[in-house]
Amino acid sequence: MSMTATPPAVRSYLPRGRSHKSTSGLSRARMAVRSNLLSFAPILINLQRDCAAPLPVLRHVADAMAADMRAGLAVDGGSDLKMILSYVDNLPTGNEKGLFYALDLGGTNFRVLRVQLGGKEERVVATEFDQVSIPQELMFGTSEALFDFIASGLAKFAQKEGGKFHLPHGRTREIGFTFSFPVKQTSIDSGILIKWTKGFAVSGTAGKDVVSCLNEAMQRQGTDMRVSALVNDTVGTLAGARYWDDDVMVAVILGTGTNACYVERVDSIPKLEGQKSISGRTIVNTEWGAFSNGLPLSEFDRQMDADSINPGEQIFEKTISGMYLGEIVRRVLVQMAEDADLFGEHTSAKLSTPFILGTPHISAMQQDSSKNLEAVGSILNDVVGVDSNINARKIVWEVCDTIAKRGGRLAGAGIVGILQKMEEDSKGVIYGKRTVVAMDGGLYEHYPHYRKYLQDAVNELLGSELSKNIVIEHSKDGSGIGAALLAATNSKYEH
Ligand code: ADP
Ligand code: MG
Repeated sequence: MSMTATPPAVRSYLPRGRSHKSTSGLSRARMAVRSNLLSFAPILINLQRDCAAPLPVLRHVADAMAADMRAGLAVDGGSDLKMILSYVDNLPTGNEKGLFYALDLGGTNFRVLRVQLGGKEERVVATEFDQVSIPQELMFGTSEALFDFIASGLAKFAQKEGGKFHLPHGRTREIGFTFSFPVKQTSIDSGILIKWTKGFAVSGTAGKDVVSCLNEAMQRQGTDMRVSALVNDTVGTLAGARYWDDDVMVAVILGTGTNACYVERVDSIPKLEGQKSISGRTIVNTEWGAFSNGLPLSEFDRQMDADSINPGEQIFEKTISGMYLGEIVRRVLVQMAEDADLFGEHTSAKLSTPFILGTPHISAMQQDSSKNLEAVGSILNDVVGVDSNINARKIVWEVCDTIAKRGGRLAGAGIVGILQKMEEDSKGVIYGKRTVVAMDGGLYEHYPHYRKYLQDAVNELLGSELSKNIVIEHSKDGSGIGAALLAATNSKYEH
């Protein structure tokens, strides 16, 4: 079906209010595309309207994030944000010395790392790491089998020690354990698994302390190692970045999923009920993926959520993180293909396959600056099996841009929400001096447009003066070293 006259839906959106303003701001080329393609225009215009995140929306999101943080700190279950206590009260200082290990169990692989720390002068003397993929059958097996496999991998890695790595005589090797599944942390070195996620269906772990599970497996395997810190990946990132820079106060992961943590004052956490930390500070893991207040959502988001394994949950994550951006774009393209023959009259079975279009694809399409958008054309052909003319490619580019722009801007608003909450509690601590937000994750690292939209939103919200003090910077693979540093900070041996 293709339409020649301007459909009423388009007429009603074009000349009014904000959409009129934003239309006048568009380049001539874009206007030309739009008028050639009136049949897709209603879908695109509705999408852009529903996903728009102008300054007032960003402000609302930042305010709501700050308010939800407070509610979650007041009482467990008080908000969408769980505001989980990390029990990390002491951040790395740079004085840490000795040999420490990190284990990162977060997806289909586990990574092991050893690091020789040399104190303030020498810092990181040497590091080595290894990555082991987890056999599929262990992801559906018993808890003992999985942890035995990990423990024996650790043992093999430890045996290869030598060169610059030295363990003082009589000491057990200490591990910082990064475990990126939902855990109810009970101390710095214990936490109960709430449930497995991300495709793991291991029996017998839920409800148990994952540190005991690993320590017991290491005993069974005769591995001379023990866990001295259990850390969330955001917390590891914060610790790793803080080691190099005392101004780091917040860490954000934008990868498959998303999360953020920050340094909080103990007296701002009512639900701690008087428990003290010697430093007066502790890291709080916000679990901000569950945020949902006032987000600009489209029908495509609602359908994707309804079809997901966790409907109604993780709405912020579903709007801003890498697992979902490509899928939202795919859903829009399906509707454009079905209602307006975006790719001609042929439909493609591939295009109807959920999650076939990944965020790396939409990032690659957005980076195509060639005149004929050849890369867009070949990705559409290779990945979703459709042919496209230049006009269709331009529309696809716009859809990618709309979804990435919303994601980046909302992520930026979330960051400002955290900064704003901290600033409200003690004036000047954040905005009055240099403050660093450490970023990690494949989405942030590999999607330059997204990164720019995030920074734009932060600048718009803070204004040019304040935003000079806020440094948002990539901290690559900081979480592994961060976990090893937290093992050092929480070592049972004295330094
Ligand atoms: P995880 O979050 O699973 O620990 P990463 O931090 O490595 O892993 O992030 C991986 C995610 O990053 C992928 O799921 C994908 O969504 C996103 N990503 C990877 N490469 C790119 C890319 N080139 N452009 C945009 N997003 C990417
Ligand atoms: Mg990760």
